[in-house]
Amino acid sequence: MKNNNIDDLLRNNQAWVAEKLALDPMYFEQLSSGQTPPYLYIGCSDSRLPLTNFTRTEPGELFVHRNIANQVSLTDINFLAVLEYAILHLEVKHIIVCGHYDCGGIKAALEGRTIGIIDNWVNPIRELYLQKQDEIHALTTREERLNRLAEINVAAQVKNLFQTSVMRQALEQQKAPMVHGWVLDIRTGLIKDLNISTLEWQLHPCPLLLEFRLYAILNNKNQPEPI
Ligand SMILES: [Zn+2]
Repeated sequence: MKNNNIDDLLRNNQAWVAEKLALDPMYFEQLSSGQTPPYLYIGCSDSRLPLTNFTRTEPGELFVHRNIANQVSLTDINFLAVLEYAILHLEVKHIIVCGHYDCGGIKAALEGRTIGIIDNWVNPIRELYLQKQDEIHALTTREERLNRLAEINVAAQVKNLFQTSVMRQALEQQKAPMVHGWVLDIRTGLIKDLNISTLEWQLHPCPLLLEFRLYAILNNKNQPEPI
């Protein structure tokens, strides 16, 4: 490990600032003028996954939310605030849910290892595993099973995005960002686009709302306010 000493980080910071200013004396002045990132990145907290490095993006280009095993939790107020701010205020054009192979959260979910509060956090992924265990157990190696569950998890989190009220509202107004499900292979450094189709969720942004509207039309009542 290169930077074992905390002072290394501050020295690195000063060197990095000097390099940036040598290339562009206005760099930080422009950076401080505000942010209009085109992307919201939802990734795993794993220290090996700063997406900026893997995609050569600069400060100001990625709005970020990270948690263990890159989950889109409908009860996580932290995540929901990030999502709302990204969609309504920053008006991001793309949302990237990026999982990765060799994920500790996926291992905990698949293998049921008890490591504390993380057990609770990864329980939705364990539920996914139980739903898909025939498919997962058909794979021959542990690595293949873990990798497949990482991909299944990304697809499930993409789907969850479309269950949030802010996303449904954006779909109604035809202002929803495009959503992408990716997985990063740490062994190669390469990102794989899982090409998850979101069309069926876009066509039915809120089944309950459609039901209300149908009810209102059939009963000749005013349509309800959007939820
Ligand atoms: Zn992870």
